[in-house]
Amino acid sequence: MNTYRCGAYRGPICDIAAESDEKAMQLYIENGDWRLADRTNFVTVITQEMIGGKLSGKRSTHFVMVEPPEPDCIQFFDHEWLPMGGADVCLHCGCRRTITWTRDMRRSVEYMNA
Ligand SMILES: [Zn+2]
Repeated sequence: MNTYRCGAYRGPICDIAAESDEKAMQLYIENGDWRLADRTNFVTVITQEMIGGKLSGKRSTHFVMVEPPEPDCIQFFDHEWLPMGGADVCLHCGCRRTITWTRDMRRSVEYMNA
């Protein structure tokens, strides 16, 4: 198990024990509050391996997408998405879901309540 110092813009600095920098980044995201209510949040996480308590190992940059929670549909229903005018619209509650792709092919989801 290695220790990685993890940080992100407007995020805390944490030392996380993990098998890999990828895993440390996942734990960092899971333990943080990165979810935006209505759209995908793009977070850049920097990890650096600590060797003997010093920041002397491999440094990596991770681009992470944190998707928003799907809003609830009306009671007893699950959303039933129907493609409509570049978005998906729920047949039951009228909520709109827009999925776009950024230039670097990252999927971005946005919800808008009716
Ligand atoms: Zn719905």
